[in-house]
Amino acid sequence: MSAHSPENGDKSGVPLQGAEVTQQRESPLPGGATKKWRAGVLGATGLVGQRLVKLLAGHPWFELTEVAASERSSGKSYAEAVRWHLDGPIPEVARSLVVKSLDPSLDCDFVFSALDSSVAGSAEEDFARAGYPVVSNSKNHRMDPDVPLLIPEVNASHLDAIPTQQKNRGYDSGFLVTNPNCSTAGLVLVLKPLADAFGLEKVFAVTLQAVSGAGYPGVASMDIHANVIPFISGEEEKMESEPQRLLGKWDGARFIDAGLGLSAHCNRVPVLEGHLECISVSLKKIACLTEVREALRNFEVSAELASLPSAIRHPVVVLDGEDRPQPRRDVHAGNGMAAVVGRVRECPLLDIKLTLLSHNLVRGAAGAALLNAELLAARGFLNHRVHAGHEKQLPEPVTR
Ligand code: NAP
Repeated sequence: MSAHSPENGDKSGVPLQGAEVTQQRESPLPGGATKKWRAGVLGATGLVGQRLVKLLAGHPWFELTEVAASERSSGKSYAEAVRWHLDGPIPEVARSLVVKSLDPSLDCDFVFSALDSSVAGSAEEDFARAGYPVVSNSKNHRMDPDVPLLIPEVNASHLDAIPTQQKNRGYDSGFLVTNPNCSTAGLVLVLKPLADAFGLEKVFAVTLQAVSGAGYPGVASMDIHANVIPFISGEEEKMESEPQRLLGKWDGARFIDAGLGLSAHCNRVPVLEGHLECISVSLKKIACLTEVREALRNFEVSAELASLPSAIRHPVVVLDGEDRPQPRRDVHAGNGMAAVVGRVRECPLLDIKLTLLSHNLVRGAAGAALLNAELLAARGFLNHRVHAGHEKQLPEPVTR
């Protein structure tokens, strides 16, 4: 049995198979902080919001103090408002919280946004303008020229754009940081070690995406049962643009794209959780399959990232089985934070091809946002607000 077979678990010691694990490691508060940061979740009743609520319960650095959603939910207790989709009960800390509206006067130090994109754009700006750091899952601000689109293991240096963003928009302590689309997250995590070791020229990707990627209730069961839908609105465009930003650079004034050739085909398949992607890649430097596998296996995060509660030391897990990864068996690898790779082989058109899998709701959404917030805390971007919201005078929006 290989050292990286699923039965042995990945190098971080996290088992690949078995039940979902949602508890982060115990880690001391960073930077001499003496108390936890209070977190709010906008869109807390949705699929991603519920994941965030669950991940925040018992988090060593953050404490859930506010939940907000639409007018349909506001005024109710969280337990009344939410249609709970996760295994296990609603966390005790959340049950009796009263769901608020999107008024930027919440009693918390920063907010996660898991809002529907129809409202996320302006609501996130309102919160940032009112002084809240906003850690968003939504697509609205991902490609803004001054907003970091972040995967900590890939482009942590893009956080240097925050002061420019605050200056551009007239924000004081508030700002926006986003995580990528769910299929981009796994793809770029796998491309990063290849880019570092060999350089990338072209990437061709075909996705098989889970139904939970469309939120709840998502795709109608009569459309997806025993079927495949070869179209996901806007998904191919996101997959073809976001990796350019993520693998590119912040030069002190603007983001410079990676200049990759990228083509994506996106499909919805009758799988509950986990996006599978079949990719072919051409490399700038010739490499054999052994070197490619080693580059992926040896991808290890920095000491700074390894100290974050939700981080895993080796975020890419390489399996040797000829029929892996599979969503049902491998989606929880590394607490849902790993990209699982298998079937690394030669490509007759480009150089190499492989299959990868990542958890769309964890690595591709809630876990990604949580890791982003942990990095923000570790780098001193989160403050403890003294009197949240109400008394604060909002600066006027700056027209750009
Ligand atoms: P979802 O299940 O449809 O949840 C949407 C949330 O937005 C709910 O809390 C809903 O509140 C709230 N909302 C809707 N309309 C609102 C309004 N007018 N005012 C205030 N709140 C409103 O969607 P999801 O899958 O969790 O996705 C949330 C966001 O994350 C989306 O922008 C999505 O594109 C992005 N994302 C999703 C995934 C994924 O795999 N699902 C991955 C990455 C990113 P009510 O319950 O009160 O209606």
